[in-house]
Amino acid sequence: MSLREIRGNTQILQRMKEAAATQVVSHAYILEGDASVDKLRLAREFVKAVICEHRQNDGTSCDLCVTCQKVDHDNHEDIFYVSADGNSIKDEAIEEMQRRLANRPNAGNRNIVIVEQADTMTLRAQNRLLKTLEEPAPGTVILLLSENSEHLAQTVRSRCILYRLHSLGTELEENIKIVAAETGEQWLNGEPFYKLVKAMEPALADKTAAAEFLDAMEIWLRDCMISLYDQSGALTGGAIAGGAGGQNRWPQSARELKEIARNCGKESIYNAIEACEEARQDLERNINTGYALKGMLLK
Ligand SMILES: [Zn+2]
Repeated sequence: MSLREIRGNTQILQRMKEAAATQVVSHAYILEGDASVDKLRLAREFVKAVICEHRQNDGTSCDLCVTCQKVDHDNHEDIFYVSADGNSIKDEAIEEMQRRLANRPNAGNRNIVIVEQADTMTLRAQNRLLKTLEEPAPGTVILLLSENSEHLAQTVRSRCILYRLHSLGTELEENIKIVAAETGEQWLNGEPFYKLVKAMEPALADKTAAAEFLDAMEIWLRDCMISLYDQSGALTGGAIAGGAGGQNRWPQSARELKEIARNCGKESIYNAIEACEEARQDLERNINTGYALKGMLLK
């Protein structure tokens, strides 16, 4: 297992790989994500990439060298774990960590600390940690795993690189919106069926993906419709995407949506919205996902 095999959070993974490849590694990171995100695994894979003896060109670990093996077997001498004792991480645990960091690394040139549930650190523990964050020994890398970094003192947070991790679900949802908008455009432009099927392929993965796709498609189609009635030209991407103060998350601009809508006409959009609703009913009736979605495009 290496960073290469972790899905989602692509930008953060990319930054981690770059840090490993260039060895420009910060002394402290916060990996923040809810319980559904495996922060510990990501932390380990990042560490492995950083200290691997035969790192790959893309900044990922080789998974074969002694160092990688030790990280995988959880017995690397230079990695120290801090975890909660009861409900919180106490001052003593951080004190112990500092004693460890006072020693030079055994195997390589880095001492690494992984603090699990870092947001459970007592205030005293955080104040103690602050000293290490302010004057880290060379080669020190501290990874704070947190469900909510707001629970950490501002002084601690401001000294760490913060990586906000999304659960895979959120990312998929974002991707599916793009898939819907792109399929929608081709659909309204009257592209051939095989092209449409190819465009919506990610939506065919399972029923959840298909349902999200249909939701996104319907919103996208309605946005197209709305764009036709816009007289003022004041429509912003955010407004038509319907997000409360949010950004336009469609790949097309407001003007492009209007263009698409004009070319295909109101009638076609109405029909498409209807087909979309029917497909949703098909899904609810447990009709095969591929059958329901492909059927929709043929209407
Ligand atoms: Zn390795």
